[in-house]
Amino acid sequence: MIIKDLHIHTKLSDGKLTPEEVYSLAYAKGYQAGISDHCGEGSFQINGNDQFEQYLNALEGLPVLKSAELDLGTKVSISRELLDRCDYLIGGVHSIGDLNFFDSEARLPPSAVLINKMLDLIEIKARQHRFDILAHPGLLPLKLRPAAGRILDKEWSQRLIALALKYDFALEINSRWELPYPEIVSDALAAGARFSLGSDGHCRETACRLDYSLAMVKELNIPEDRMFQV
Ligand SMILES: [Zn+2]
Ligand SMILES: [Zn+2]
Repeated sequence: MIIKDLHIHTKLSDGKLTPEEVYSLAYAKGYQAGISDHCGEGSFQINGNDQFEQYLNALEGLPVLKSAELDLGTKVSISRELLDRCDYLIGGVHSIGDLNFFDSEARLPPSAVLINKMLDLIEIKARQHRFDILAHPGLLPLKLRPAAGRILDKEWSQRLIALALKYDFALEINSRWELPYPEIVSDALAAGARFSLGSDGHCRETACRLDYSLAMVKELNIPEDRMFQV
């Protein structure tokens, strides 16, 4: 099986590497690279048809898979026609309303409310954008991450898995954040969900580092036909 790292960032959004450098890194490891820069509102993200077309043009001709990580908590203003020029699309939750998950000072709603809002957002955007892969399932605001194992309860993971099946998106096994947790991957596997592997790498040290993702595939014996096919 050819290992595919389907979640890598470049200088075209907030990464440090050029697309060519990402390709060389992946090639050296024998991996196939999928470039999925951030798209949506926000200073470092690609948004609008003109910017997105420039992004696609920058990847044209390189032997990499073309993708985009749509920022589901913001407005992605890119036409369906342009998005469809990607080989696949990723959706990722990094904020809900005013709550930025990377703001350590953010005021938080009760965690039960927050995790349900996260699933509501995923469902609304799955209908709207038809993404193929959900990035880092279960990523929480910074302050909540130490308690994530307790917060992301069985009811939450069952609803997440049901959404993945209903809207036919793969659950990414993300090595940067080591998500989703093994129990969730295991439940999703039993339920018939599909998976993809992503380093979520932004620099030379982290791009194509798939330690957690590959460990999950091995430990849980995830068969190839349950991996997302590009
Ligand atoms: Zn992300
Ligand atoms: Zn990412």
